[in-house]
Amino acid sequence: MHNVKGPNVCATIMGIKCDNKYCEFADMSVKVEDYHLWLNKPCPNCGENLLTQADYDLVKFQLDTAERLNKIFLPKDKPHTQARMQGHYDGSGIPTYSDIEIVAIGEE
Ligand SMILES: [Zn+2]
Repeated sequence: MHNVKGPNVCATIMGIKCDNKYCEFADMSVKVEDYHLWLNKPCPNCGENLLTQADYDLVKFQLDTAERLNKIFLPKDKPHTQARMQGHYDGSGIPTYSDIEIVAIGEE
C-alpha cells in the first residue's frame, strides 16, 4: 500500500491511533506502507486493537480506488471543483470525514 498523488485524486493516509476513544495512544509518524505491521496489534496503553482488518481493507480499497480514478481522463474544457477532507477510522471499517472544504471551484 502507498499514498496516491495523481491528476484527479491525491490521498495521503498516515498514522496509527488507538480505536478506544478514551485512550490517547497515537503514533502519527507511521507510514501507510507499514500498516501491515500494525494489523490487529494491541495498543500498548489499553490493549484495544490498533488497526482492525476492516479499517485495513478500507484503506486499501480507498487507495486502490484513488489510483483507478487517476487513470481516468477528465476533459480540460470542463470545470472541475477540488475539495479536501480529513478521514477518520475507528476500527469499524466505516470512515467519517471532517474539515471538508472546497479548495478550488471550476468555472464554466
Ligand atoms: Zn489504547
